[in-house]
Amino acid sequence: MSDIAVLGAGPAGIMTALKAREQGHEVTIFEASDRVGGMAASFEVAGQRVDFGSHRLHPATDPEIMSLIKSLLGEDLQTRERHGRIRLKNKWIGFPLRTLDMVRHLPIRFSGAVALETLTKPLRSSKTSDFQSEIQRRLGPTVEREFYGPYARKLYGVDPRELTTELSNRRVSAGGPVQIIKNAVRASRPEGRVFYYPRRGYGQIAESLADAAVDRGVKLKLGAPATLVAVKEGHVEVTCGDSSIEAKTLFSSIPLNALMQTLDPPPPAEIVTAASQQRTRGMIIAHLVVPRSQYTEFDAHYFPGLEITTARLSEAKNYRDGDDPDDLTVLCAELACWVDDEIWNLPSEDIGQLVEEDLQRAGLPSTGHVHVEVQRLPSVYPVYEHSTIGARETIDNWLRKPGRVVSLGRQGLGVPDNLHHVLAMGSRGASALDASGLINQTAWQNSLDEFAQHVVQD
Ligand SMILES: Cc1cc2nc3c(=O)[nH]c(=O)nc-3n(C[C@H](O)[C@H](O)[C@H](O)COP(=O)(O)OP(=O)(O)OC[C@H]3O[C@@H](n4cnc5c(N)ncnc54)[C@H](O)[C@@H]3O)c2cc1C
Repeated sequence: MSDIAVLGAGPAGIMTALKAREQGHEVTIFEASDRVGGMAASFEVAGQRVDFGSHRLHPATDPEIMSLIKSLLGEDLQTRERHGRIRLKNKWIGFPLRTLDMVRHLPIRFSGAVALETLTKPLRSSKTSDFQSEIQRRLGPTVEREFYGPYARKLYGVDPRELTTELSNRRVSAGGPVQIIKNAVRASRPEGRVFYYPRRGYGQIAESLADAAVDRGVKLKLGAPATLVAVKEGHVEVTCGDSSIEAKTLFSSIPLNALMQTLDPPPPAEIVTAASQQRTRGMIIAHLVVPRSQYTEFDAHYFPGLEITTARLSEAKNYRDGDDPDDLTVLCAELACWVDDEIWNLPSEDIGQLVEEDLQRAGLPSTGHVHVEVQRLPSVYPVYEHSTIGARETIDNWLRKPGRVVSLGRQGLGVPDNLHHVLAMGSRGASALDASGLINQTAWQNSLDEFAQHVVQD
C-alpha cells in the first residue's frame, strides 16, 4: 500500500507529493500525459523551449516556496524586468502601466476621464452585483469600458454583467484608480516590474520540483490516466493506465469533472449535476515559428479590443537569457474560445493566418512565419456566472468534506489561480495529513478558506 496517491503531475500535484514524501509518506503520482508541469509545462517547438502562453513567476510567491524554487533552480532562475505593451485606443501603452508612458501616449480625453473618475470614486455606489459594476466602482467606467470589460468578454466569452463579483475580486487586484496610479508609479521603477523566469522555460520549475520529489522517493508514473477511483472502507483503490494501487488518501489535481467520472461510488446526483453546469473557457495556444532572430523587443503584447481575436502574444526568447537558437524566434498567441466554437477545430495554418490578420489589425508587422503548432487546452478559465452561483456553492460544500479523496489545484477546485497559489495548495494539502496518511478535515477546511482569498497576478 502507498499511503498517498496523487492524480496529475502539474505543479499542484507535484508539490503535494513532494511535501507528503518529506513527511515520511509513501507517495505515487499518476500523470496522464508524458511530461510533468500541466499547463505550466514547457516543450520544444522548432528546437526552442516554449510554454503554454505567457507565464511568469510572481514576486508575490510565498517566501518559503520561493526559497525552495530558488534552491532547486539556482542561477537558472533569472530575475527579469517586465517589458510588455497593451493596445488601448489604437495606441501602445507600456504594460504594466507606467505613469510617464500613460501621460505621453494616452489620448487626453481618456486620461482626463480617468482623472475625473478617480476624484469621483467616493460618490460611486458601493453596492455592486456583477463584474462590470464592480470594476466600474473600483476603477471607473472608462477603464472598465476600454480595458477590463472587453478583456473579460474576450477571455470568458460572456457579457461582463453575467459574471459575478467573485471573479472580479479574484482576477483584478487593483482596488481603485488611486491604486492603479500607485502601481504605475511603482512600475516606473525597474524594481517594481520584476518577475522570475527559468533559463529553460517556465516548465523548468515543475520539472525541478518533480526531480526533487523522485530523488526523495516519490514514484512518478507518466502516461497513466486515471480510470477508476474506488473508495473502500479503509482505503482507496486507484487505477491509472495499467497500474493499480491502494492508498489511504488520494489527492486529485485533475479537472473535477474528470475525477467525478472515475469515482466509485459516484458522487451524489446533485453534485454531478452542479459540476456539469460549471462552464470553463478553453484556449488555443498557437506557436508561430518565425525565421528571424527577434520579432519585437517586447515580452508580451496584450489585446483587450474585441476586434482582435488574440488575447495576448508573447515571445519566449524575450523572457530569459537562454540557449535559444539565433536564427529563429517562436511567438505564442493565446486565443480564448469555447471548445465547440468553429475556431477550436480550425487547421493550424488557418489559425496562424488568423493571428497574422490580428497582428496587422493591431499595427504590428507580418511575422512571416514558416510553421505553426497548435495546442488546445479545453479548460483554462472557470467562468463564474450568476446562473451557476448555486451550483458552485453546492460543489464547494461537497469539496469541504473530502473523506479519502481530496480535490485541489486550479482545475480540481475550479479557480483561476497562479502557479504560486497552487504550489501553496499542494503544500497545505500535505500538511493537513496526519501521521497515518488521513486528511484532517478542519485543517483542510481552514486551508480552503485561505485559498478563497487568492488574487490572480497577471
Ligand atoms: C495561458 C496561461 C497563462 C498563465 N500564466 C501564468 C503566469 O504568468 N503565472 C502563474 O503563476 N501562473 C500562470 N498560469 C496558471 C498556471 O499555469 C496554473 O496555475 C498551473 O499550471 C495550475 O497547476 P495545477 O497543477 O493546478 O493544474 P494543471 O497544470 O492543469 O495540471 C493538471 C495535470 O493533471 C493531468 N491530468 C488531467 N487529467 C488526468 C487524468 N485523468 N489522469 C491523470 N492525470 C491527468 C494533466 O495532464 C496535468 O498535467 C497561466 C495559465 C495559462 C493557461
